[in-house]
Amino acid sequence: MLRTHTCGELTIKDVGKKVTLCGWLQRSRDLGGMTFTDLRDRYGITQLVFNMETNSSLCEQARKLGREFVINVSGEVAERSNKNLKMPTGEIEIIVDSLAVMNESKTPPFTIDENTDGGEDLRMKYRYLDIRRNPVKDALLLRARLAAETRNYLNSKKFIEVETPVLIKSTPEGARDFVVPSRMNPGEFYALPQSPQTFKQLLMVAGLDRYYQLVKCFRDEDLRADRQPEFTQIDCEMSFVEQEDILNTFEGLICHLFKSVKGIDVPEIPRMSFSDAMLYYGNDKPDIRFEMKINEIKSTEPNSPLLWRGAGGEAFKVFHDAEVVLAICVKGSSEYTRKQLDELTEWVKRPQLGATGLVYAKWNTDGSLKSSVDKFYSTDDLKKWFEHCRGQQGDLILILAGEKNKTRKAMSELRLEMGNRLGVRNKDEYKALWVYDFPLLEWNEDSKRWHAMHHPFTSPKPEDIPLLEKNPGEVRANAYDLVINGTEIGGGSIRIHNKELQSQVFGILGFTQEEAQNQFGFLMNAFEFGAPPHGGIAFGFDRLCSLFGGSDSIRDYIAFPKNNSGRDVMIESPSSISKEQLKELGIHLSQKG
Ligand code: ASP
Repeated sequence: MLRTHTCGELTIKDVGKKVTLCGWLQRSRDLGGMTFTDLRDRYGITQLVFNMETNSSLCEQARKLGREFVINVSGEVAERSNKNLKMPTGEIEIIVDSLAVMNESKTPPFTIDENTDGGEDLRMKYRYLDIRRNPVKDALLLRARLAAETRNYLNSKKFIEVETPVLIKSTPEGARDFVVPSRMNPGEFYALPQSPQTFKQLLMVAGLDRYYQLVKCFRDEDLRADRQPEFTQIDCEMSFVEQEDILNTFEGLICHLFKSVKGIDVPEIPRMSFSDAMLYYGNDKPDIRFEMKINEIKSTEPNSPLLWRGAGGEAFKVFHDAEVVLAICVKGSSEYTRKQLDELTEWVKRPQLGATGLVYAKWNTDGSLKSSVDKFYSTDDLKKWFEHCRGQQGDLILILAGEKNKTRKAMSELRLEMGNRLGVRNKDEYKALWVYDFPLLEWNEDSKRWHAMHHPFTSPKPEDIPLLEKNPGEVRANAYDLVINGTEIGGGSIRIHNKELQSQVFGILGFTQEEAQNQFGFLMNAFEFGAPPHGGIAFGFDRLCSLFGGSDSIRDYIAFPKNNSGRDVMIESPSSISKEQLKELGIHLSQKG
């Protein structure tokens, strides 16, 4: 070893020891006769002292070192007179008696410190320098810790880690495939797996019983802060289980991760059906850190209250014409000013939400009631709204009206925004939720076909199978998602393990028998050789890391991420390939760039 200790481990107990350290020079301070230098490695920072009086040539040498030089120093551990109790090594320093430069460094393009002056692009280009910074390094350490604890838990439950191939045939997870040309099979292409879905099912047919893999998946989608073209899943599958067994097993994993990595005890994870999630929260991944449920004042659903019509029978035209009228009650916000409400109205009218307007009602602290539709509704009508939304004096009701799906979606966004404004979406508070009973299929207007809501291998609920032919939209699936703080962290399903049912579902999804056989024949054939009942789940590992680390971006937890255009600006990829390579692959480009 070139060192006796790391830069993070020497403390007051080591005073007097002769040590050798290696690391990067973080910064130097010349104070008259002394030079103080911070030496950094992955483990921490140790202060070095060079003394002009006792060793002037060494001190001169130290003064010439530049930032990020790699050095090797030997010396004695001494107690500091000026202690920094915030650092583990802050009570000691090294009185250096020998120094060697192991490598020089150009001046780095940004400061390598807790807070840096480097912009995002520059830091991505020099990601290896950015990783030297504590916040980035700590994110990678957190990721490694989560991976290790995931393996610990799953190994302890008799799951076995199996690697599945990366050069495969398309897996239908609903995104576009990345494809790779095959030189040996001209004109043919591999697809990179959107997930190892079919392989893990085949491993169940193979009798492995419990499988997992921390695996790279590839989806060619438009990117957002929480998406990368290649990302990692904790992918799992189990045989001879029902939905309940899977929920319990993986609730165990989540509780283990929270406990072992963050020291948090997660109580039993509540469950909510997809239809309740949509009804009360307007989306299938509700953030349940706060209540603020959506209430219907008018809707086409049976039994929904018709509070949109005032006691006098009069009706506000917008409500009259709307398919749904939805309300949320914002606690303690009756003080909202006209200006704030106008601003909120503009917010809901943005094209992303597309609401036509916002109606409000306030129950002021002095007991009076006021709304933006006072012309149509009496105080008693407004009180009914408050009663219906479980509102009280001091609260504010916000109402959106319009077409069902669009209005629900907009209301869901408004609810989250009001949660932000009330400060009830605290990053350090974790609320997990299972959402279950998803519809098996959803209608796609563009292709005028049914699409699988999860993927085509998901099993319908046995009691809903008779609906498959006549009323496919009503069929519920044995599918579930794990949602934490309003983010989908994982999802899975009980699978179809019977050839006839699988081929019926392919049929409903618009595959001809021949197409289904071409694309998924290998799986359907396998089902003829004693496929056990099975099911599984996959967790978005990068998202889980960002959730644990309290950041909105998964990029922070990926050593070498891609930017918003799917580019790695450090290695400059994707890039063009040589004419020879193209020729070898039998590819002709019609245009470049
Ligand atoms: N393959 C699925 C996905 O990537 C997960 C699963 O069904 O297990 O979402």
